[in-house]
Parts: sequence; structure tokens; C-alpha cells
Amino acid sequence: MDFLPVIYLDSNATAQVDPRVVDAMMPFLRENYANPSASYRAARVVREAMDAARAQIASLLNAVPAEVVFTSCGTESNNAVIESARMFWPARAHLVIATTEHSAILEPARRWERDGGTVTRVAVRADGVVNLDRLREAVVPGQTALVSIMWANNETGVLAPMREVVEIAHEAGALVHTDAVQAMGKVPVDVQSVEVDYLSLSGHKFHAPKGVGALFVSRRVRFRPWMLGGGQEGGRRSGTENVPYIVALGKAAELMQEHLVDGTEERIRTMRDAFENRILKALPDVMVNGSRDFRLPTTSSLRFPGVEAAGMLILLDEKGLCCSAGSACHTAALHPSHVLEAMGLDAQHAASTLRFSFSRFNTMDEALAAADQVIACAKKMRLLRAQDAGPVIAL
Ligand code: PLP
Repeated sequence: MDFLPVIYLDSNATAQVDPRVVDAMMPFLRENYANPSASYRAARVVREAMDAARAQIASLLNAVPAEVVFTSCGTESNNAVIESARMFWPARAHLVIATTEHSAILEPARRWERDGGTVTRVAVRADGVVNLDRLREAVVPGQTALVSIMWANNETGVLAPMREVVEIAHEAGALVHTDAVQAMGKVPVDVQSVEVDYLSLSGHKFHAPKGVGALFVSRRVRFRPWMLGGGQEGGRRSGTENVPYIVALGKAAELMQEHLVDGTEERIRTMRDAFENRILKALPDVMVNGSRDFRLPTTSSLRFPGVEAAGMLILLDEKGLCCSAGSACHTAALHPSHVLEAMGLDAQHAASTLRFSFSRFNTMDEALAAADQVIACAKKMRLLRAQDAGPVIAL
């Protein structure tokens, strides 16, 4: 199958694997294939590589290596934490989440309810930031087992005031989990200064392959595993470890840590802003969804009044530009995004939203070329719409 030359602005859906990450993992597919639990020397090499990867993840989080548990993905990490919090039932069977969480939190929360627990879904403000007053009201001392609030939203990039979230939850004796799948490596995430108890991350959002993730479990708290078996990962996640991918995850974390301080994230922010500003200048009625300041440097969620995002996606795809409408799963199902609805957008506005997400593999030339394509496609869509509607043409 031939591929068009593409401009890839969909890194929140999945990010390109860094060639240095591929190089790091290959020896563990080719030569170093021993089971890390075996007793011979060949297995020791593999164990040491896993230890190194654990230290790399811990370093990115400012955690200690023993607090890192390898999993298969962000979804597994999220599910594992919600499942673990059921150890506090029946005394504490109350769960608090935000309305804008990913489905990998929303669905386990639904099961929590179906099985007899209670869930409070905390509203966000119009700018997408979780409403701390509502959070304070939601948390019930002695009853809330867990508060789970995502560090950064996958659709808008809007960040959560995690320090305040932790303070509010801990004051009420509840533990705190954060889905940091979108935040890792893009903004500083330091578990010593923001004392979350659990944190989920996923490799394919920061240039490792799909199908590997990790869960941070603070030494201060208990964790009840749901994957039982051979007792790997200190008994917290059984199953023979996916060593090549774990090595890849570690290498990707090391690179993200370097890039957080070497100006790379700033370069990405500058590209994203240039892209956004060019569009906003050419199409002054386009709006940015969510807080413009308190968000990831990589993400631009834009709504184009009067333009259907689904049609724009087709036109942009023909031009070789990859982006998404709302989040990836919503693209297939074409449901209005629950995140945009939670921010108060009506279905029509939500359906005219496109998400562009950048990474270090993009260039400024690409960002500007992409902006020109978006402007041209939006104008074309409006022209077609105006022609459909009759003689009035408003561009
Ligand atoms: N949480 C967030 C915020 C995400 O964006 C995603 C993926 O889109 C996930 C969880 C799920 O991660 P994974 O694809 O590794 O299961």
C-alpha cells in the first residue's frame, strides 16, 4: 500500500515511535529473549534492562523505581487503580471523577456503580479546567475511597490543577489517582511535589510503541492487584513481562526527560501557536476550545462555526493532513464529544471541532503548511454550504 506524504498532527491519538527507541528495543527481540524470571545468566541481562527501564520511568516522574509497575497500556493502568480501590468497600465505596475523563476511567466508574458503589462526576468550567469548588463539595470524608482526575485532557490539552486536587482529596482522607497518559513528558510531572498516590501512563503517547504502559503506585499506599498469577512486578501485575516494549518505554521516557529541558517542548509550543495564530488571523470566527494558557503545549482544539468537522476530516485527509475530530474513538462513532459537551458546547459546536496535536517530529514548515490547508478547506466547506443554501455567499 502506498502512503501519501503526510503531515501528521494526531500525536494525541498515537505518536510516531522514535527510531532511537526502536534501536534500544531490538536486541530484546532478537538476542536477549530470555524470560526475566529465569535463573541463568542470559536472564540476568534481561532483568538488568528492565531495572534500567524502571529507573528511567521513575526518573521522569521523580519517583523511586520500586513504585513503577509495568502494564500493557494506559487503559489497563486506569482500570487497575479503580479495581484496586474496591478493597476499601463497603466502608468507602464512593468514587469521584471529572466529567471529562477518558473512557478508560468513565467505563470502570460505571461498573463501580453497577456493582453497588457510588460515583460523583465533578463538572469542569467552560474553559475545561476541573471546578475545584465542585470537587470540594463532592469529596466525602470517611466515604470517598478515591479521587481520579486526569492531568491533561486528550481532546483539549487542558491541564488540571493537580496540587489543589491532591490537597482537597487528602484532606478528606481519600486517595488520588491521575490519568497522566497525555501529560507525560510534555509538561513536568513530579510526584514528590504533587503527591498523587497512583498515576497512569502509556508508551504510545510519548514515542514508544503501542501496547505498553506503567502505573505509579506510591510507597505510602496499598494496591490490590487484579491480574493474579506468577507474581511478577512485585505481585502487583502478574504476567511475563513484555521486555522489548518495557525497554522501549524506558528509552522513550529518558528522551522525553531530556526534551523537557533542552527547549524541545518550547519549540513544539511555538509551532502550535504559529499554526493556531495563522488560522485565527485568516478565519477570525474560529475559536480555541478550553483554556489557552493552562493546556499542553502540543494540542490545539479548534472549532469552525458552520463547518462540519467530519467533512473537513475527509478534505484534509485528501491533502495528506492527519488530525481528528474530537477524540479518535469519537471519530468512528460520531457521537458529540462528552468533553466538549461538559464544557458547555452544544452538539453543533462540538461537531465543528477539530483537534490537531503536535510532536517533536513536526517542523515549523509543516505547521504553517497545515494551517494553510485547514484555512483553504474551511473556506471550501463554507462555500459549498453557502451554495447549497442558495445565493447568499458568506465566507
Ligand atoms: N487516557 C487518556 C487520557 C488517553 O488519551 C488514552 C488514549 O487515548 C488512554 C487513557 C488509553 O491509553 P491506551 O491507548 O494506552 O490504552
